[in-house]
Amino acid sequence: MLFSKIFLKTKKNLPSDESSKNAQLLERGGFIYKNSSGIYTLLPLGWLVIQKIINIVREEINKIDGQEILMPSLISKKIWEQSKRWNIEIGYEVRGKKDLEPEYILGWTHEEVLTELVKHFINSYKDLPLALYQIQNKFRNEPRAKSGLLRGKEFIMKDLYSFHSSEKDLLKYYNKVAKAYQKIFKRCNLKTIYTLAGGGTFTMAYTHEFQVICNAGEDEIFICKSCKYAENKEISKLTENKKCSRCGGEIKKERAIEVGNIFPLGTKYSKNFNLKYKDKNGNEHYVIMGSYGIGITRLMGTIVEIHNDKFGIIWPEEIAPYQVYLINIKNKEAKKLYNYLQNKNVNVLYDDRKIGIGEKFTDADLIGIPYRIVLSPKIKNLIEVKIRKNNQIKKLKREGVIKLILNKNESF
Ligand code: ATP
Ligand code: MG
Repeated sequence: MLFSKIFLKTKKNLPSDESSKNAQLLERGGFIYKNSSGIYTLLPLGWLVIQKIINIVREEINKIDGQEILMPSLISKKIWEQSKRWNIEIGYEVRGKKDLEPEYILGWTHEEVLTELVKHFINSYKDLPLALYQIQNKFRNEPRAKSGLLRGKEFIMKDLYSFHSSEKDLLKYYNKVAKAYQKIFKRCNLKTIYTLAGGGTFTMAYTHEFQVICNAGEDEIFICKSCKYAENKEISKLTENKKCSRCGGEIKKERAIEVGNIFPLGTKYSKNFNLKYKDKNGNEHYVIMGSYGIGITRLMGTIVEIHNDKFGIIWPEEIAPYQVYLINIKNKEAKKLYNYLQNKNVNVLYDDRKIGIGEKFTDADLIGIPYRIVLSPKIKNLIEVKIRKNNQIKKLKREGVIKLILNKNESF
């Protein structure tokens, strides 16, 4: 992609109304546009990043037999009344006609919609287990939408729901999801802490959160520095400077961002919606459920909070919108390298703007693409590559560049 063609303008100055690091860097770098408080547009660069994250999530959830669907955002009042969640503060109500009572709520979660739906498909134990998920915008009336992508009023979530014939089967799947989540966050280059949390509705009274230690987070967790056992402060009886009861390690309090969570729901929703299955003997039982969320846009904001320096964002390779930022200082070779890399499926952002080299360097650092390549006649036969993750600059031969980026013994 040519820089002169992409819908992208970087900003030199910090947006005055954004205090969070992720919003500042993402707005300056031309990834997002703030429409109003807690509501953002994903511009081409931002949308590329989101698609990279979504691909990872899809791959890992498909591997554990999740099947992707897409439910509506407009959810009828009747469904919410059945679970008695209509009168909650969180959802935006929608009126069909002026002066009428609200008929819908914009979806802020989908347990109700899906439980009602699967009722028409699940009859017997043979239909179980079942895992369905979607990636969709959620709407929540969040009064404290001040942390950029970390807390939006409209945001993208991956929500997975599972259906089982026994508690044992649910717990088996719950642990599978936990492992898949670990892989997802690792591929996003984030260290997550598996944290015990409250809000359980089942014989298993607890849920788990995936927390990333970060001062920008709104959560507080107690964590053992040695064995990494962690509890959310909301439910924890742990205190700082006490010894961990499991390993004797030191307990510390940390601020953290919840990027995902997993809930054993039990029969709460299947009872509300009378969702039952027949066992081998024809006896009826309530279906046992679990639900599992990942904040896709929050994940993008968290990656920026963790991976940045004073110059800008440092995208992990798998998440970066482009792999290579190419700068050409009057050198014929650039087009050749550009074509070669594109043919090898390496996405290149070619800065062809008629501006000074200093400005290009500043933008390359701000946008945070893993490799910045400069072709200049000044450095004869050598190509300059800056590795953004450690800001190291190397002068390499053509083969060296290809080896570094593609790990192949070839040249262009
Ligand atoms: P929180 O406690 O942070 O409000 P939650 O417990 O309400 O989150 P869920 O309703 O289970 O979270 O949503 C699943 C995931 O969606 C969360 O783990 C989080 O990553 C993300 N998420 C929740 N609320 C928001 C929001 N307002 N903006 C962005 N992401 C969110
Ligand atoms: Mg919440």
